[in-house]
Amino acid sequence: MLASGGLIDPFARRITYLRVSVTDRCDFRCVYCMSESMTFLPKAELLTLEELDRLCSAFIREGVNKLRITGGEPLVRRNIIEFFRSISRHLGTGLLDELTLTTNGSQLHRFATALHDCGIRRVNVSLDTLDAEKFSKVTRWGRLQQVLLGIDAAQQAGLRVKINTVALKGFNEDELESLVEWCAGRDMDITFIEVMPMGDIGNENRIGQYWSVKDVRARLEESWTVMDTAERSGGPARYVRLVETGQKVGFITPLSHNFCESCNRVRLNCVGTLYQCLGQEGSVDLRSVLRGRPDDDAALVDAIHAAIARKPKGHDFDYSRGTVGGQMSRHMSHTGG
Ligand code: SAM
Ligand code: SF4
Repeated sequence: MLASGGLIDPFARRITYLRVSVTDRCDFRCVYCMSESMTFLPKAELLTLEELDRLCSAFIREGVNKLRITGGEPLVRRNIIEFFRSISRHLGTGLLDELTLTTNGSQLHRFATALHDCGIRRVNVSLDTLDAEKFSKVTRWGRLQQVLLGIDAAQQAGLRVKINTVALKGFNEDELESLVEWCAGRDMDITFIEVMPMGDIGNENRIGQYWSVKDVRARLEESWTVMDTAERSGGPARYVRLVETGQKVGFITPLSHNFCESCNRVRLNCVGTLYQCLGQEGSVDLRSVLRGRPDDDAALVDAIHAAIARKPKGHDFDYSRGTVGGQMSRHMSHTGG
C-alpha cells in the first residue's frame, strides 16, 4: 500500500524509479566521465548508509518501485553490502519490484554472491572494449581481466548481466560486431549509449567522442536482421532484437532521439541532493531535511513531493550545431549515471 497517491510530476509522469549514487569515488578514470585529476567530495559530506536507507525508504513508501544503485563506483563504497542487505527488506514486503546496480565490474568477483543473496537479480556492467590495451586507455586505471572475472562471477552467482557500452567515435567503432557477438555467446544483452556532455573531462573532446547511436544501428543492419520491438525496461532505452542471435540490443539516444517524454525517474547523489533531471541544473537538498529533522519522516516526504512538483520537462543536450549544447557542469559520476 502506498502512503500517498504516489509521486506525480507536473507533466503527469509517475515517478517510480530512483537512481542513487552512493559515492562519487571510483577506481577508474574513464576518459568521457572524468579527468585523471578529478577531485572528490570530502567523505564527511556523504550521507551515511543509514541516512541513505532512510531516504530511499521514504521514496519507496511514496511509490518508487525500482531502485538502481550507482556512483562513482558503488562497489568501492565501504560496507555497501550492508546497505543492500538492509534496503532489500522492501523486496520482501513487495513495495520494491527491483533492486539493481550499475557497476564498472572491477569488484564484482568479490561481491557477486553477496549481491545475489540480497535479492539482486540483474546488474549492468559498463564495458566499452574487449581489447585489454584499449580498456586501459579508456578507463585509464582499469584492468580488463578483472572485469571479465567479475562478469564470470556474476553469471555464476545467478545474476543476469547486461553490458552498457558508450559508443565512442574512432575508439570502439571497429569492435561493434565483436562486442555484440561476445554478448550473444554469453547470453547477455547489450545497450549502446551516446556520450553526453556531463562535467569537465580535461583535454578530451566531446564532439570528437560522439558517435550517433543511429549510425550504430545502421552498422548492425549490415550484419544482422534488426527487428524493432516495443519492449521497454522502464528506462530510456529503446530495444531491437537481432533475429539471428535472438539477442536484445538497446540504444540510449539522449542526443539523436530525446527520450524525456516518458521519463519516470529522479536521481539522488551521495550527499543527498535530488536531481529531478539528468540534464538540468535544478536540484533540491534533501540532506538538510534529513539531518535537520532526524525523527520527522513527514517533513522528508513533503520535501520529496515538493521536489517532484518541480521536475522539468526535459534536457537540452544538443550537438547538432557542431558545438556542445546543454553542457552540464556536473559529472555523470556525481549525479549517478
Ligand atoms: N561506475 C559505474 C559504471 O561505470 O558503470 C557506475 C557509474 S557510471 C557514471 C554509469 C554509466 O554512465 C556508465 O555506463 C558510463 O559508461 C556512463 N557514462 C559516464 N559518463 C558518461 C557520459 N559523459 N556520457 C554517457 N555515458 C556516460
Ligand atoms: Fe568510474 Fe563509471 Fe565514471 Fe568510469 S564511467 S570513471 S567506471 S564512474
